[in-house]
Amino acid sequence: MRLIDHDQLVPPDRTLIDRKDFNFHCHSGVRCFLSCCRNVDMLLFPYDILRLKQKLKLQSSDFVHKYTMVCEGSHLHFPGLKLRLTEDTLPVCPFLAPHGCTVYEDRPSACRTYPLERGVEHVGPGQPLKIHYFMTHHAYCMGHDEVRTYTLRQWERDQKLHDYNLFNDLWAELDAFFSTNPWAGEGKAGPYQQLAFMVCYNIDGFRAYVERHGLLNTFRLNKDERRRISNCDEQLLRFGFSWLEFILGGRKNLIPK
Ligand code: SF4
Ligand code: SF4
Repeated sequence: MRLIDHDQLVPPDRTLIDRKDFNFHCHSGVRCFLSCCRNVDMLLFPYDILRLKQKLKLQSSDFVHKYTMVCEGSHLHFPGLKLRLTEDTLPVCPFLAPHGCTVYEDRPSACRTYPLERGVEHVGPGQPLKIHYFMTHHAYCMGHDEVRTYTLRQWERDQKLHDYNLFNDLWAELDAFFSTNPWAGEGKAGPYQQLAFMVCYNIDGFRAYVERHGLLNTFRLNKDERRRISNCDEQLLRFGFSWLEFILGGRKNLIPK
């Protein structure tokens, strides 16, 4: 997923495929099998990290330390996290085994969506996001020559993209808000930005923070909502996104007691 600008809707080397069918098939018989898992340059989004750390049964801080690198995000005001590749002669994804992907059911959004790329256009506060799909063109990928046609909806279903897209859209909204530099002049890596980094990339650390500060008791949430947020990483991430918008932007999405 990438945040896109209306003035430069189609990124370089991509073709817009909104509402068009496309031809593609990836399977273990293609000559290029697993080529796309080598030398890959991949941003990981908050929901990607949540799913991978669950799959690997790691604490989120351990996952981030072992498998990611801090990098420039989609704008200057909040960092991103990149997948850290193995340091072999030819760097490869750490989750690649000779037979294929070892985290397939929980692989990141970019791997699921490939060869497409999902673009999110932020039209303005309160406006629904505009979604676009682009076709990438990598010479090594032979899947384009295979005979199978998909519609976008079939591709989303086939790749189980629903939950990823849902959380990535919430993240895109929040990241667009971060691009307005809401850190109250505290600069990079100040206390608020560190808090936001924890919510987005270290969900287990955020859970400990919520418990330590009795955060759920400070908002009007019913028993069922509190139970779901306490017990479910996904619900906690949603709450964390809302909470950041509340404390940084004064949004009325949570009601204090
Ligand atoms: S997560 Fe899986 S599909 Fe994605 S690059 Fe790594 S091995 Fe390949
Ligand atoms: S067809 Fe494309 S997506 Fe499939 S393994 Fe080959 S390079 Fe990767």
